[in-house]
Amino acid sequence: MTVNAGHPVAPLLRVEDVVVEYPRKGLPPMRALAGVGLEVAPGEIVGIVGESGCGKSTLARAVTGLAPAHAGSVTFDGTPVGAVGRRRRAPGLLPLQMVFQDPNASLNPRRTIGAQIQEVVVARERALGARRGRRDPETAREAVEALRRVGLPDGAAEKYPHEFSGGQRQRAAIARALASRPKMIVADEPVSALDASAQAAVANLLRDLSREEGIALAFISHDLAVVGALADRVVVMYLGRVVETGTVEQIFNAPQHPYTQALLAAVPVPDGTGARPRALTGEVPDPGSPPPGCRFHPRCPLAVDRCRTDEPVLQRAGESEVACWIAQARDPATVRSGRSE
Ligand code: ADP
Ligand code: MG
Repeated sequence: MTVNAGHPVAPLLRVEDVVVEYPRKGLPPMRALAGVGLEVAPGEIVGIVGESGCGKSTLARAVTGLAPAHAGSVTFDGTPVGAVGRRRRAPGLLPLQMVFQDPNASLNPRRTIGAQIQEVVVARERALGARRGRRDPETAREAVEALRRVGLPDGAAEKYPHEFSGGQRQRAAIARALASRPKMIVADEPVSALDASAQAAVANLLRDLSREEGIALAFISHDLAVVGALADRVVVMYLGRVVETGTVEQIFNAPQHPYTQALLAAVPVPDGTGARPRALTGEVPDPGSPPPGCRFHPRCPLAVDRCRTDEPVLQRAGESEVACWIAQARDPATVRSGRSE
């Protein structure tokens, strides 16, 4: 349960202990998610962050039913999300939409943007049992309205994806997602392929859509600074696991996990002096054969014997939840102020 203004709110998305494995020839399966839990409340913006290869895209795919979960469960608004692929989704999952890093992955290069959005509107109406034809003027009007909503100029409906800039193309992909009337959008690195100015604009668009229309947003990025600028809550992943979760304030002001602290140390300081010294060294190990004990211990400056043998699980530490023996052993008063000794 997420507590909102003192009232518990039933989560819109509930992910419980999800395991996803990819088979590999001659190797143990790639266990990309090794038991991940997550809850997202209606209208909430959750930022999911971690280095490349930690399982963020796999989590997005498991949440939206594109990757089969070997264990655990995902429930969206009361509907179980099975691995049914994109075409045979239950009508109850229509309000759960995904935005990809590369908008070309979801847009058809041979059809106009307007036609593609109209297709989604018609599919939505049919899923609801209504008979709205493609030629219904209301369908075209809705497509134009969706494009306006994402800040694309009039006339965008008649254009093909290649006629847009990268930022505009991502806006068009978001407009297409909006045509399903989503309650939640899972956006996987939606700004990582865009140039710097388009990055902020598209991230702000997603935040504004969430705030103004009450759409929950799972915003995935390898960049903690990007996530910090728009999320209510941050989930930090490492090697197929959640290692820390807390509000943006907690994560930025009092990070508990040494991995979160290292990610934060690499975030540029806004005073213009550039990035702080990068504290994170070493390679990310193979998630298919993770280190014993705490998965982070080979790269952790604080690791003790127990970290090399026993795997910590998420536990409340102060205002956050953290999977770290050192953080969990800290005096709660010290934890709250964020000091480590
Ligand atoms: P992220 O999005 O955080 O970079 P991914 O979820 O894409 O991480 O990948 C997690 C791990 O799973 C990585 O080690 C990646 O190489 C592996 N992986 C991802 N997709 C596949 C696949 N289809 N087959 C085998 N391994 C995969
Ligand atoms: Mg990814």
